[in-house]
Amino acid sequence: DAARTGTTDVLDVPAYVDGAWLATGTQVVRTGPYTRTAVSRAHQADDELVRRATAAAVPAAATVAAQTPADRAAALERAAVLSAQRRDEIAHRLALELGKPVRDGRNEADRVAATFRIAAAEARRLGGEILPAEGWEHGRGTTVLTRRSPVGVVLAITPFNAPANLLAHKLAAAYAAGNATIVKAPPQAPAATAVVVEIALDAGLPPTAVQLLHGGPEIGAALCAAPQVNAVAFTGSAAAGAAVARAAGPKRTVLELGGNAATIVAHDADVAAAAAACARTGYSNSGQSCVSVQRVYVHRSRMAEFLPAFTEQVRALRVGDPLDPATDVGSMVDDDAARRVVDWTEEAARDGAGIPVAGVRTHATVTPTVIVDPPTSARVVREEIFGPVVVVLGYDDLDDVVAACNASRYGLQAGLFTEDVRTIFRLWRDLEVGGLVVNGPSNHRLDHIPFGGVKDSGIGRESPAHMIDDFTITKTMHLRGV
Ligand code: NAD
Repeated sequence: DAARTGTTDVLDVPAYVDGAWLATGTQVVRTGPYTRTAVSRAHQADDELVRRATAAAVPAAATVAAQTPADRAAALERAAVLSAQRRDEIAHRLALELGKPVRDGRNEADRVAATFRIAAAEARRLGGEILPAEGWEHGRGTTVLTRRSPVGVVLAITPFNAPANLLAHKLAAAYAAGNATIVKAPPQAPAATAVVVEIALDAGLPPTAVQLLHGGPEIGAALCAAPQVNAVAFTGSAAAGAAVARAAGPKRTVLELGGNAATIVAHDADVAAAAAACARTGYSNSGQSCVSVQRVYVHRSRMAEFLPAFTEQVRALRVGDPLDPATDVGSMVDDDAARRVVDWTEEAARDGAGIPVAGVRTHATVTPTVIVDPPTSARVVREEIFGPVVVVLGYDDLDDVVAACNASRYGLQAGLFTEDVRTIFRLWRDLEVGGLVVNGPSNHRLDHIPFGGVKDSGIGRESPAHMIDDFTITKTMHLRGV
């Protein structure tokens, strides 16, 4: 099949519907943002293919549901092994389509393997409960049991920035729970998406258990609205998430949306460790991560130590060819994204911010940028920059920094460097986020731990165990008179 002919430079990526790879009439070529050459060609879906894919997914869901959890776990474990075997290929596709450094790409591939393994373990412990029905008077003489039934068809819509692992999360959890999945790939990463689908099929998922469609917002919205789709797992921007929620209506929906994460360096912090962590993670994948270190709030008493240590390490980051294993920072996803980063940085500078490390743009590559003390009205503070930019802001007391963090429309994850247990517990309670990383930067995720946001950062939590809750229905049985 064409998706596997990885020998030519331009990877042909068909759709995959009802057990077959399909060429379609319209193809869109992806130009690599770093190479500036054609790297993949995705066969676009149309309304007719949406109809075929949704129709095929319904009997496929019955096929998956008829498998035992042990069968599904075994397939997911094989998928983990295959992901490890195709690690370099995954990293290569991510580098070509997105400009993601191979080091980050290998890390993503490792996480794909981990996500499949974790989902397999969750499949093996799918079960129900015996509920304490007799705990209330009306329940006397009744035993109530629960089982988990699969919802049926899960739609997975993924963003460009971590297209392999964010698909693995949705696909693995949906399958572990006994469902069929329809995948709507991000237009920027069709080949990096297809490799995960290939791995799942090679691992022995039923051939119809996954459908892969390429297309933009219209195809995504049509799939959300399709009556055959029972649940939607979406990762992407807040604006697209709102559109997905409208199109999906009263379906089960998990929305993992944007962020402009803060990391706080308290007066008693290990400043050297904080500076190193922020420099290392603030620019990985060119800052294109929903929990990337965007705002660093440093206690003013430590600013004179933090800033030189941080900027020195930022300047030492190696920017360049994403295929070079020594590269720390590759390119952004496209030239428009890079232009936006430069625009927002210039706006902050005009409004009085300091720019101790100025980013330079070449096509889609922007070298690391450090912005100091912009006004709080600046877009680099208020909005999600999703680029290789870290904004450093001073603060005087904890109330102020909590208020500044919570002023954001987003609330995904925060980082905190401190040695004080009272500060830790207070910020854990008061910060409006889905997670707090203590003595680490905001950019940290463990694939087996629930991950997600509040406010415009989304609803629901992503981890195989949590997604299995979203992708199953609790069905009770009342056993009376026994
Ligand atoms: P995007 O919202 O532009 O696109 C995401 C996906 O949604 C793509 O597949 C796109 O084609 C599709 N889409 C767009 N409009 C749609 C619509 N109306 N209906 C259905 N589907 C639609 O996001 P992006 O630029 O690819 O990714 C970056 C965004 O994703 C950032 O905001 C980032 O913070 C967020 N993100 C969040 C998480 C998280 O776990 N919270 C993780 C990674 C990325």
